[in-house]
Formats: sequence, C-alpha cells, structure tokens
Amino acid sequence: LESRAALYLGTGPSLSLERIAVDAPRSGEVRVRLNASGVCHSDLHVVDGVWEVATPMVLGHEGAGVIESVGEDVRDLSVGDHVVLSWAAACGRCVQCLHGRPWACARTRADVPLMADGTTRLSRGHGSEVYPYLGVGSFSEYTVVAESAAIRISSEVPSTVAALIGCGVTTGVGAVINTAQVPAGAAAVVIGCGGVGLSAVMGLRLVGADPIVAVDLADDRLRAARDVGATHVFRGDDDVLGSLRSVASEGFDYAFEVIGLPATVELAISALGPVGTAVLVGMPGPAARAALDVYDLTLLSKRVVGCSYGSAIPAIDFPRIANLYLTGLLPLDKLVSHEIALDEVDDALAAMRRRERMRSVIVYA
Ligand SMILES: [Zn+2]
Ligand SMILES: [Zn+2]
Repeated sequence: LESRAALYLGTGPSLSLERIAVDAPRSGEVRVRLNASGVCHSDLHVVDGVWEVATPMVLGHEGAGVIESVGEDVRDLSVGDHVVLSWAAACGRCVQCLHGRPWACARTRADVPLMADGTTRLSRGHGSEVYPYLGVGSFSEYTVVAESAAIRISSEVPSTVAALIGCGVTTGVGAVINTAQVPAGAAAVVIGCGGVGLSAVMGLRLVGADPIVAVDLADDRLRAARDVGATHVFRGDDDVLGSLRSVASEGFDYAFEVIGLPATVELAISALGPVGTAVLVGMPGPAARAALDVYDLTLLSKRVVGCSYGSAIPAIDFPRIANLYLTGLLPLDKLVSHEIALDEVDDALAAMRRRERMRSVIVYA
C-alpha cells in the first residue's frame, strides 16, 4: 500500500516528503500503521551527516502504532494490537542474546537497515529500494518490521507517550533501573535534560534516589526537570562542579551523561565520589574522545560504563514502562512538548539543532 513518508536522500538539512510503497509483511514480519513517532537526536545526527547511512532512507526510529497485517508464522501478534517499535530487533541466537542482553546483540539489524532476508519492504517509483532507519522507519504512515521489533503494550497508553517508549524513555529510564540499578537514597546527577535526560530524572525519582540533581543550559528544561523529580537544578554554564559539590560534598554515587560531548563526559566522571558510577548515555559522533584522570579514577575506584538502549529487553521493559506510566509512577506525558504533523518534521529537527524543545512527536491522522 501507499504511505506518506519523510526520506533522507543523503544531504541535509531537509527531508523529502514523498509517497512510498510499503509491501505486505513476509514470514515473521508485521505491517504497522503508525499512530505517532518521536523525533530523536539520532535522526538529527543522520540528517547532519554525523553518522552515515544507506539512502534513500525513511528516518524515524521512535514509533508506536497498530498492527495492520501479519506475515506467515507470526504467532504472538494479531491485527489491531497496539505496539511500540524497537530499533534493536535482536537475533535471539548470538552469545549476547543468549545471556539475556539483546541490546548488545552482535547481529542486530539496527546497523543493517534490511529485513532478515536481506531485502526491504519499502520502495519508491519503479521498485527502487528504500531503507527504514534502524529497521523501523517511523517517519512514515506505514512500515514493516520483524515480529520481535513490535512489542504489544496496553491500548490505554496515548500514542504520543507510547512512541517515546520506543527510544528516549526506555534509554533514560533503563539507564537508571537496568544499566546502573540505582538503589534508593543514592546521590545522582543527570547532565543534559532533553527527552532522554528527563526520562533518567523520572527513573531516579521512581527508584528513590536522593538528591537528584539536573544540569542543562536551558531554563525551560531545568524547570521541566524540577517538575518531574529533580531536587536541585543548575545551569551548565555556571561553576557547575562547584555547584554540584555544594549538594554532595563527597561527590555523587551516580552521574548520567545524556549529551554525548567529551567535556560533559569528563564532568560526569569528575562529579563522582568514591566508588561512584558514571553512565554514558548520550550518543556522540564516531570520533569522540574524552580525557580520563586515571589517577583519580583508580584511587577512588570509580566506574565508567556505556549504556545503549537503556540495557533494555524491549519485550519486558516496554510493557513495564507503559504500566508505570498508567499507574502514575512515570509522568511520561510531560515529555511531549510539541505534537506536529509529518510535514513539520524539518522544523522539529531545526529546533533540536538549536537545543530547543523537549520532544516533538509526529501524530499521524
Ligand atoms: Zn533515539
Ligand atoms: Zn543476538
């Protein structure tokens, strides 16, 4: 069937709005009618040429919708199910998958935007292939994904919130509850308060961290951080390390870096106290390097860990996070700052480039 979609053709800063063809799902695949898609920083990285991708590509990897049709051998999903799309369709057979760590799957299709049989269900004109970003391609009214990449959640969750569970929310909340497993009462700081950083603040509130300090350059984001559970907020351009010391004189137990810049990675490690853990969540460009104070790191037994996709198992974490939203323990609707139409996606990307807005979410009619 035909679908309106926003395509990246290899040059920014604008996406191309086109009608593409979306084929029927094959064995083990499902076709999804998107209800909503978040606009995430990784989409911007592609448009700005930070990461190279195959083109033409339908961007968007933070989507939620309803199963429109299912291919052969699909057992666990039915037409009409409400699903959140995962951008890491794990193979289920590699060593990491067997260890229960699908976010580290060695054979995930995320970096190869093709279906398991090596082809794509998306095309434009005369059957020329179109690739779905990270195997999702949610800047489109319809897409086809592997069955394992469509996770059923409660239909009571609004589609804008459901979409964000597909990337930003799971990354931020997962960094706290899965990667770091922060215990109640731990002192924590979050550096960078976009959608993922605010999700981390909510996760810290959920587990009872105290204090919860938020750092950002924008006053509206700091207000939002306070609103979702930060006990202290600081502007990043002040003497921020001094401010952090005023809250936790011995240093923090956990520091979450949610920007992906060397300077803030170094700040996160500096903010730690003895045996503190810095969790690197923000995704930088491929050449990013940060300096380590090796003496300090060793003497104080600090830990630095990377975090991809919140160390989440989508089939477990998506429904769990959705239910935490429904019970009021994660106020995820507060992340949705702008509801937009598909043809406004360039504006959303431009706002993100200016470090404005929390999360723009495309809502499909
Ligand atoms: Zn993302
Ligand atoms: Zn695997």
